[in-house]
Amino acid sequence: MPSHPSAANHPHAFRPVSATGGATLGDHRKYPGSRLVITCSLCGWSKGYNPERIVERLRQLKAGGHATPAGAIARRVAWNCPGCHRVKWRSDLAWPADLSPREVKRLASLYRN
Ligand SMILES: [Zn+2]
Repeated sequence: MPSHPSAANHPHAFRPVSATGGATLGDHRKYPGSRLVITCSLCGWSKGYNPERIVERLRQLKAGGHATPAGAIARRVAWNCPGCHRVKWRSDLAWPADLSPREVKRLASLYRN
């Protein structure tokens, strides 16, 4: 199995917006700057997506929208993990680890205006 860099220096590291989970796709508006992140449960490989793009796609497919749980997207990922070549995904809203709390506040004020 290929080795993976630690979370600390991984360029695609994310931190969940909520410790309890249960966010919907539309909740990204409550968590400015957050991404829909799919993570491999087996090796930790992860990738973030624009939540609005995912919502648009679900609507086109008549398969969901803003109310769709972020955790439900994992079931729609059919491709193998680039890290370990297996298929066991989870998904959630998360912030890029390098997005500072200050930047989150700045984005929040932009959304309000
Ligand atoms: Zn993997």
